[in-house]
Amino acid sequence: MKNTTVLISGASIAGPALAYWLSRSGHAVTVVERAPALRPGGQAVDFKGETHRVVLERMGILDEVRRRQTGGTDQTIVDADGRRLAVMPGEFTGGDIEILRGDLSALLYERTEGECEYVFGDSLTSLTDTAGGVHVTFERGAPRTFDLVVGADGIHSNVRRLAFGPESDYVRFLGHYYALADLGVDSGNMMYNEPGRMVAIGGPKSPAFFVFASERLDYDRYDVERHKRILADAYRGMGWRVPELVARLPEARDLYLDSISRVEVDHYARGRVVLLGDAAYGNTLGGFGTGLAIVGAYVLAGELAAAGGDHRTAFRAYEEAFRSYARVAGRGGAGPFLAPATWRGIRMRNWIFKRRFLLWTMLRMTDRFATDIKLKDYPALTGTSTAT
Ligand SMILES: Cc1cc2nc3c(=O)[nH]c(=O)nc-3n(C[C@H](O)[C@H](O)[C@H](O)COP(=O)(O)OP(=O)(O)OC[C@H]3O[C@@H](n4cnc5c(N)ncnc54)[C@H](O)[C@@H]3O)c2cc1C
Repeated sequence: MKNTTVLISGASIAGPALAYWLSRSGHAVTVVERAPALRPGGQAVDFKGETHRVVLERMGILDEVRRRQTGGTDQTIVDADGRRLAVMPGEFTGGDIEILRGDLSALLYERTEGECEYVFGDSLTSLTDTAGGVHVTFERGAPRTFDLVVGADGIHSNVRRLAFGPESDYVRFLGHYYALADLGVDSGNMMYNEPGRMVAIGGPKSPAFFVFASERLDYDRYDVERHKRILADAYRGMGWRVPELVARLPEARDLYLDSISRVEVDHYARGRVVLLGDAAYGNTLGGFGTGLAIVGAYVLAGELAAAGGDHRTAFRAYEEAFRSYARVAGRGGAGPFLAPATWRGIRMRNWIFKRRFLLWTMLRMTDRFATDIKLKDYPALTGTSTAT
């Protein structure tokens, strides 16, 4: 595989994780990232259960991930007067190990930057899959040809659009939007609901985190001023500290708004192009997105190594090994749970957090989903022969 060239689009979690394994198994890897530099900070993401732990261990980053972990903070659900109604335990939102997405991305980048080529501030504009390779053109760089191309560029994947078709064919809107912002508000970890709307401040996901039910909205994904207006409209008239938050929106730092959506592709690969992470099985807030990206990168790289460079066999085996594990991303969305549609629904959700047994059952169920795969041993990647 010494001469196999692989282009990966996206340098967040899935992209650098795959770059790590592919460069170890002798591929020549280029990672292209649209952002001008590695994107820092962002929401907290989490790992849960043995499968995630084993892959992090095999990558040699488990201890470092633990050193940088943030998780374990409980969140108090309050009423309009700030009185405590229930507590959402840290382990419910933060898994076993929680870390900022940007910190994890930086760690993966540090482990790979010497082994592969990173190109920031560029993006693919076309892909032509031929018998001998994929001819790629870029917004800025000169055209190049690669043996394989991987779309690890998130839920709104550019590679998926170019190789598979328009986003509307593959991304299903789940009826809610979310927004992350730093509004400079100092508070403990608190969360407040009214029907169809949730706001959390000081919580583990972001300094301010909003989830609201909505019809599908028509807006430019990169127009931050429009995002602020959408959010202000959605939260108009809400109680608790929301008027103060809305008043701070015009000055918001790092505001990000997006739909809660799920990716549904029939196959992960088309010819020499394959999808990984959120681009293939993303569910904005469906849980395990980061675990799926990390485990998916291991399986895809392992199958490529096992197939000795035969990408058709490798892509088929990756899909066979992974599709059933990734099913968890297809199970509903977190929108109705975080922002129930009615006061009754809000009371029911809060009630669950007061019942230790129900909570325990839900946590055990998520544990099962996170470990529901028999990880193969890929000696070409790990240099060992211990199956898990
Ligand atoms: C609010 C929130 C909370 C979350 N909480 C959790 C959680 O608790 N646990 C969990 O496991 N997951 C969580 N997730 C999901 C998690 O962040 C993702 O599932 C995970 O990061 C998957 O990573 P990825 O690399 O596949 O995609 P992404 O992290 O989306 O990265 C895609 C990368 O591709 C780049 N890119 C985009 N377009 C292009 C282009 N045209 N050319 C080149 N590069 C491009 C982007 O800039 C980005 O760097 C959460 C997500 C959100 C939004």
